[in-house]
Amino acid sequence: MIVLMQKGATRDDLDRLKQRIESLGFVPHVFAGEQRTTVGITGNKGQIESDLFLSMSGVEDVVRVSKPYKLVSREMKPDDTVVHVGDDQIGGGELAIIAGPCSVESRSQILEIAGMLREMGVKFLRGGAYKPRTSPYSFQGLREQGLEYLKEAAVKTGMHVITEVKDTDTLPLVFEHADILQVGSRNMYNYSLLEKIGMQRKPVLLKRAFSATIEELLMAGEYVAVQGNYQIVFCERGIRSFDPFTRNSLDLNAVPLIKGISHLPIVVDPSHGTGSWELVIPMARAAVAAGADGLMIEVHQDPSVALSDGFQSLRPEKFRLLLEQLSQLAPLMGKSLPTKTAPSFITNN
Ligand code: PEP
Ligand code: MN
Repeated sequence: MIVLMQKGATRDDLDRLKQRIESLGFVPHVFAGEQRTTVGITGNKGQIESDLFLSMSGVEDVVRVSKPYKLVSREMKPDDTVVHVGDDQIGGGELAIIAGPCSVESRSQILEIAGMLREMGVKFLRGGAYKPRTSPYSFQGLREQGLEYLKEAAVKTGMHVITEVKDTDTLPLVFEHADILQVGSRNMYNYSLLEKIGMQRKPVLLKRAFSATIEELLMAGEYVAVQGNYQIVFCERGIRSFDPFTRNSLDLNAVPLIKGISHLPIVVDPSHGTGSWELVIPMARAAVAAGADGLMIEVHQDPSVALSDGFQSLRPEKFRLLLEQLSQLAPLMGKSLPTKTAPSFITNN
């Protein structure tokens, strides 16, 4: 159930409503939108009587939601959510560019690539420290050491860290080092992990499982939101199809669909979505044209020696070319690209 507050509702009206919801044993979720405030109610087993709230001061209307997700839906919040990460944001007018290697491989590797990316204007540094690899014999990541290198690189360059949380055991450590917690494709259905992530208060990037419907992705987001963490970014990263030419099929339908259904931002990862570096630039352009709020791109200084996903990683010069192209395309979509910064802070020691 969603309670729509009147435009002129006061703080006291809102507090009284929250108290009533809590006194009934339910949980209120307050969304302060540009137009009006709405309050989602969760925790109820059956139907709630709308009369319980309709007569309250400041309440305009009460709407039932029959969908299996509500807090992530546009009914809950008609205007777009902007996810704040320090002074920066995902959603809104600037395209969020998240870039970096698939895995953190060494201190010098991550420091060097972070410096190059920051100089190109990138604000969000990606890199896996705990890698969920399909084969147990593949490189599993530098783990805690990788988190430390990543954090050092981000602090030295003034970037934000985004890295994957592989399980609940390592969540506290990743929480300590990351600015955005990434839930990987393989973990989108890990509901106990989603709940734990929902209980903390850092932004979450939730990747679509390669077998998930769009509705399942939305419901995974709802698992996080129902715990009180609404700072969620969806990520389309391709779904498994029958075509062996590509690692995955990048489902760009998801972008306008999710933007219609949900108030949350969506970014696209054409690296995993295609599995082939030659396809990354055209599909990144397509994602922006489809209305994505940002991109996640794997970039490696020498993909031929990368410890994971080199075949889908862009070299820095190719990534620079992509950004140049996007600087022309983004304005057509009402967006801008982050501006370049002086390369003065690039450091390797
Ligand atoms: C990644 O981004 O490093 C990753 C493993 O992606 P996915 O979970 O989409 O496979
Ligand atoms: Mn990867």
